Amino acid sequence: KPVFLAGIVFDVTERKEMEMDLAQKNKILQEMSSLDGLTKISNHRTLVEHLKACISDAVRTGSPMSIAIFDIDDFKKVNDTRGHVFGDQVLARVAAIINGSIRGADLAGRYGGEEFMVLFPDTGLEQAAKVSERIRQVIADYAFEEGMRVTVSGGVKQYTGETPAELIHAADIRLYQAKKNGKNQIVF
Ligand code: GH3
Ligand code: MG
Ligand code: MG
Repeated sequence: KPVFLAGIVFDVTERKEMEMDLAQKNKILQEMSSLDGLTKISNHRTLVEHLKACISDAVRTGSPMSIAIFDIDDFKKVNDTRGHVFGDQVLARVAAIINGSIRGADLAGRYGGEEFMVLFPDTGLEQAAKVSERIRQVIADYAFEEGMRVTVSGGVKQYTGETPAELIHAADIRLYQAKKNGKNQIVF
C-alpha cells in the first residue's frame, strides 16, 4: 500500500512547445557542426563521413565514384597583399562557385584552409574531371573586387578499391602534379 504519492503535472501544450523548440535548436546545432563556419559548406568531418558512405555505396552497387580536391593557387599572396578579410571573402566565393557547379547528389566541402573537396557518387573519372575543369574555369573567370582574380589547381581520382585515406592521398598526388605543372589546371 502506498503511503505517499508524488507527481508532476505538465501542461501538454507548453511541453509540446518546449519539444518543438528543442527540435529546432537541435537542428541548428547539427547544422552548425556539419558546416564550415566561414564558407557554409560541409566541413572536414562531414566530408570524411560522406566519403565513407559513398565508398560503401560504390562497393555495394558496383557503380563508380570519384573525388576531386581543389587548392587555391598562391593564396598566401592574396592574404599578404590584400589582407585576411579579403582572403576570407575569396574563400567564401570559391566555396559558393564550387557548390553551385555540382549536382544535387554530389557533395562539396571545405577540407582544410584553402582546400576544397567534391564527392561525386555514381560518377566515373571522365565525368568528374569534366565538372572539375568547369569549376576551375568559372573560378579563373570570376572577377573579385578591383578586378582581382584567383585560380585553383585540382586533382581528380576515381575510386578503385582504396581506403578513404588512400583515395584522398591519391587525389592529393594529382593535385600536387597540377601545382608542379604550373597551377590553374586539373590533373586526373
Ligand atoms: P600554392 O599555390 O602552392 O597552394 O600556394 P599557397 O600560397 O596557396 O599555399 P600555402 O599553403 O603556402 O598557403 C595557404 C594560405 O592559406 C596560408 C594561410 O594563411 C591561408 N589560409 C588558410 N585558411 C585561411 C582562412 O580561413 N582565411 C584566410 N584568409 N586565409 C587562410
Ligand atoms: Mg593548400
Ligand atoms: Mg594553395
